[in-house]
Order: sequence, then structure tokens, then C-alpha cells
Amino acid sequence: MSSRREFLKVASLGAAAVLMPRISQAKKAADKPNIIFIMSDDHTSQAIGAYGSRLAKLNPTPVIDTLAKEGMLFENAFCTNSICTPSRACIITGQYSNVNGVLDLGGNIEPEKQHLAIEMRKAGYTTAMVGKWHLKREPNFDYYKVLPGQGKYYDPTFREKAEGKTFGKNTVKMKGHSSDCITDITLNWFKTIRDKSKPFFLMHHYKAPHDMFGNAERYDKYLEDVDIPEPKNLWKQPKFGSIATRGHNDELLPYIGTSIGRRNLRRNYTKSWAKDKSLSDEAAKRLAYNVYLKKYLRCVKGVDDNLKRLFAYLRKEGLMDNTVIIYTGDQGFMLGEHDYMDKRWMYDESQRMPFLIRYPKTIKPGSRSDAIVENVDYGPTMLDFAGVKTPGYMQGGSFKSICETGKEPTGWKQAAYYRYWMHMAHHDNPSHFGIRTKKHKLIFYYGCSPKGSGQTPPGWELYDLVKDPTEVNNVYDDPKNAKLVADLKGQLAALRKKYGDTDEAFPEMKKVVDEFWDYGPAARKRAIEISHQMLERKKKGASSRRKKGKKTKKK
Ligand code: CA
Repeated sequence: MSSRREFLKVASLGAAAVLMPRISQAKKAADKPNIIFIMSDDHTSQAIGAYGSRLAKLNPTPVIDTLAKEGMLFENAFCTNSICTPSRACIITGQYSNVNGVLDLGGNIEPEKQHLAIEMRKAGYTTAMVGKWHLKREPNFDYYKVLPGQGKYYDPTFREKAEGKTFGKNTVKMKGHSSDCITDITLNWFKTIRDKSKPFFLMHHYKAPHDMFGNAERYDKYLEDVDIPEPKNLWKQPKFGSIATRGHNDELLPYIGTSIGRRNLRRNYTKSWAKDKSLSDEAAKRLAYNVYLKKYLRCVKGVDDNLKRLFAYLRKEGLMDNTVIIYTGDQGFMLGEHDYMDKRWMYDESQRMPFLIRYPKTIKPGSRSDAIVENVDYGPTMLDFAGVKTPGYMQGGSFKSICETGKEPTGWKQAAYYRYWMHMAHHDNPSHFGIRTKKHKLIFYYGCSPKGSGQTPPGWELYDLVKDPTEVNNVYDDPKNAKLVADLKGQLAALRKKYGDTDEAFPEMKKVVDEFWDYGPAARKRAIEISHQMLERKKKGASSRRKKGKKTKKK
């Protein structure tokens, strides 16, 4: 008997030994927080009340602001390449553009490289991706319902994960505004599709407020009678920019950087919304600015109201406080600052991403951080919340401890690296790279395509962000700053080396970068020549377009 008892005891211990890891794994997974990563397209920090910009008095985002009130706001979160597909690629891979390969809008991320989603699944999460995706290949999530490409604002089509249907053939049409549809899809996933035995990782992405702006009808009158506050540098900024952005003696102002006012001849918002030629330049700019901001803020309002619905559901289901909720935009956006529209620039309004995070179990309500964090760090941070160590192939790092303590760990990055590759595409922005610390920003416009073509005048800009937070005074040439410039250039070169962004694959471009790095007298003289040549090209182009136009009219 006793031997039998012994046997049973050993057997049950053995079974427990086998069962225990399984039980503790399941328990571990159940202890993990859920994670919702909410991202809108082009929603910039100036258009979020909690960031306290000139637009805060319009109260554009009361719901999003609650995440700041009940969680943490990051003042210095930056994207590494301010445009849609590249920023999304940085987030899903945890890698800089030169490593994940998505330099521009043409790039994509194959399913096996969608690391964040893959690692979350490995950690026991059920994963879902809803809304704007823009990484072209099939999302590697347990569930997805995504817009194809940019998607449509009204009655959008989605691609939904379905057995036996290949990506691209799995389309589903919906009725209504995209922000409403995307929220409906997510709520439906919560209610009927989600595997409730696992913690969830949800990426919930709005298309709004990307241009061409389209709000739901119920916002048509929102802000109708309001005069939208203007940034000072919409009007006057004589010391802003460089030969790279203005040309020699301002000769390229009509050609670089699309504008609100009539400045950019090819593309500006008066062409859409202040066409009346009898309006003065000032009146046309003011009108175009107001239309622009109202269209944009109406889309923002639709996002904010939809989040109210989502948060109400989470509260009702008891999911609000055991879920890490992040709100961000895929980059910033110029809302008339420097008379610019769109993003792409390294100026703060475009480089900065809003980043709010709420998780009351470990994050103090109403806290703020000025730590420098980049979009490549978002993946590692979310994985850290999920109990996963940052995989070696990710270049970003986790800032979970900053969220929880407000303190930067020893060795945490003190500078953000930035690079924009799409030389003079769509919005006439010259290619550039640079470094941003808490106090300074150094930008190098090398001004050519990866193949070295389309050269615009190379130039450097330095801004003192403490004295000049709106970046209107380029102090690169002030002799007092020579040492600072040399130091920042050293840091910039070191970052480029560290992140592997040293252009060996693009010898023609590398030659330009090397030639204009020191920016001595010969380089400056050459930049002036390039400016004149570009002006000639532009004038010739305009006159041949005029001739063509006349011919077409005669026909
Ligand atoms: Ca975007």
C-alpha cells in the first residue's frame, strides 16, 4: 500500500511538474496588460488640446486630452522620417528607415517582417489591426480589417481577413464616414471576434485627418464662425531657413515648400480655397488658412468623438484600467507654421508626434516627460509592457521605465535622428537629415535624390530651441556658434554611423553629402551657383508650360 501511495504521490508531483509551467504561463498571459495603439494619420500635436498650442483654446480634442489627464504626455516624441508609410514601417519593425528599407511612400513591409505583431503573438497576445495600414502587404495579425492604400473618407472599402481569400480579393464595402466605420469595426471585433482567453494587442488606426480632408456631415458647421488663431510665422520670418529652403537672396521662395499663401507658384492653398484674384495676398492667405484649419479640425473632431465611443465601451466592459492605451499620429503636420502645409520637414511641428499613454496601474495621472523618444522606440516599449525584452534586431529601445517613473534611465538617448528622402516630391521639400536635442536642432539639406539627381542648393540650419522654439532664427552662420555646430555635426555623424545610415549604397548622394559637410567658402559659392541654375530651370519650365497651355487652348 505504502509503495502504491508513494507511486501516486510521485505521479501526481510529476503531473504537477508538467502542468505547472502551463498554468503559470496561462496565468502570466492573463496578468499581462492589454494594449491598444491608437494612431491617426497626420494628427499633429498643435491640434491636441493637451499640448497647449494656440489652437488649444478651441478645445479640439476633449476626449484625447483625458489620456493626458489620466496618463502621461510626451513633449519630445519624434518620428525619424515624417511621412506615412515610412513612419508606420519604423513602428512595426522598431528599425530606422535605412534598415527596414522603407525610405519613401513606395515601400512595404512583408508579413514576416511585421515584428511588433509577431512578437506580441509569441508573447501570448491575440492581435488585431483595424483601419489605415499603408504597409501594402497582408497584415500579419490574428484579425485585420484595413483600408487599401490611403483608403476613402466616405463609404470606404476594407480588406478583411477571411479564410480562403487572398489579400486584395478580400474586400468588404461599408457605408458612412471612415472614422465611424473604423470605430464600428473595432467595437465589433471586441464584441464578436476577439479571443477573450488571451490578452489583446490592437492597432486602431484612423485615416483622418489626412488630406484631402473629408469630415462627416455632422461637423460641417463646426467652427464655422470662428476665426482660427494664426501662428506668427505664417506671416513674417526674415531669418528663417537657408539658401536650401529660400535660394540665394530668396530667389527660390516660389519653388520650395508648398504654401498656404500664394508664395509657392505650383502648389498652394489659395489655389483651392481663395481663388478670387481680386483678393490681396494677405486676404487670400488668411482665407486659405482658415479653410485649411477648419477642414482639418473637423476631421480631428470626428476622431475625438469616435474615441469617446471606444472608451465608453472599454469602461463598460471593465477593460479601461487593465489596458495600456496609447494615442499618437504617424507624424506631425504643418498647420501654417512657416507658411507651410503638409509634413516631411524636420521643423518641430512636422517632426514631433503626439504621444499620450494611459495605464493607471503604473503610470501617474497628469504626468509629462521631456525625454526624447522616437517612433522606433514605440514597439520595444509596448513589448516591454507585454513582458518581452527588446529583440536584438530592433534598433529602438523601451521607455516603459520613463512612463512609470518619469526618469530617464542611464544612457537613454539625448538626441533624435531624422531623415527625409523624397527629394522635391509632392510638396517641394529638399532631402535632408539632422539631429534634434532638447536644446538645439541642426538640419543639413544636402538636396538631391538617392541617385544624386535634381540638385537643389545644399545648406545648413541651426535653431536654438530654448530661445527660439518656433524656429524662425537660423543661427548656423553666427560665429559664436562655431563650436556648437562642430559638436552637433560630430553627434550627427556618430548617430548616422550607429544607425547604419551612411549612404554606401548611394555613391552619388554620398559625394554631395561629403562635398557640403564642412560648408566652407568653395561649397557656399557652389551652392549659390546651384541656386541660380535651379531658378533658370524653373523659369524655363514655367515658360514652356505657358506655351503648351496656349497651344492646348487654341486646339
Ligand atoms: Ca501620415
